[in-house]
Amino acid sequence: MILELKNIYKNYQQGKMEVPVLKDVNFSMEEGEYVAIMGPSGSGKTTLMNIIGCLDKSTSGTFLLDGQDVNKCTENEMSDIRLRKIGFVFQSFHLLPKQSAIENVMMPLNYAGVPKKKRREIAFAALERVGLADRVDFRPNQLSGGQMQRVAIARAIVNSPKILLADEPTGALDSKSSVQVMDLFQKLNDEGVTVLMITHDSEIADYAKRAVLIRDGVLSEKEVSARE
Ligand code: ADP
Ligand code: MG
Repeated sequence: MILELKNIYKNYQQGKMEVPVLKDVNFSMEEGEYVAIMGPSGSGKTTLMNIIGCLDKSTSGTFLLDGQDVNKCTENEMSDIRLRKIGFVFQSFHLLPKQSAIENVMMPLNYAGVPKKKRREIAFAALERVGLADRVDFRPNQLSGGQMQRVAIARAIVNSPKILLADEPTGALDSKSSVQVMDLFQKLNDEGVTVLMITHDSEIADYAKRAVLIRDGVLSEKEVSARE
């Protein structure tokens, strides 16, 4: 099991009020799985992703990532886990605008202390993997939305993470680019990358092999439509 959440609750403090957002979430993934989390806006998808991504802790419950009990980790241990084990992809790409594609992809390697020449080689290979070997020196504003997201995906996989987390990865893309990004996730998953993707679009969710549904902070398995 790559990750396991047991009886996870998350409340946000809103002034004097505790606002419950996640309610007794139980969820797990095997290594190599490809899962979509679906749900309407405000249902708690990003909150859940932040917990799984070790960006935030739950209020109660147990979360094991790769066997490690994350609620017992310090801030430093959590940032170490993020660096070594998790790749993030966001709706709005989060690329550094003044850096070229390859410099963006090299960024996690800088933090990991990889020597400079090696960084370039590894980042180039990651850009090749997402089909952008011919765009390494382009800055984000010289790329299309779909290409920017592929750079972001290259950056997310450059450290060979245990799991790729994507929060609405096609939310800012046209349908053609969305299909390209989904084809890429498919390819990476076929190559063994574990993928967890948030979406509120059921056509996008259909690319995953399993889908779960979150409604008002309550998570349930979704019946998979006949697509095999
Ligand atoms: P989704 O990603 O499904 O749209 P979110 O996880 O972003 O939903 O938000 C779920 C609920 O939690 C919303 O009602 C939102 O207002 C609330 N929420 C999210 N982040 C915070 C925060 N930092 N402080 C207080 N409330 C929050
Ligand atoms: Mg969200």
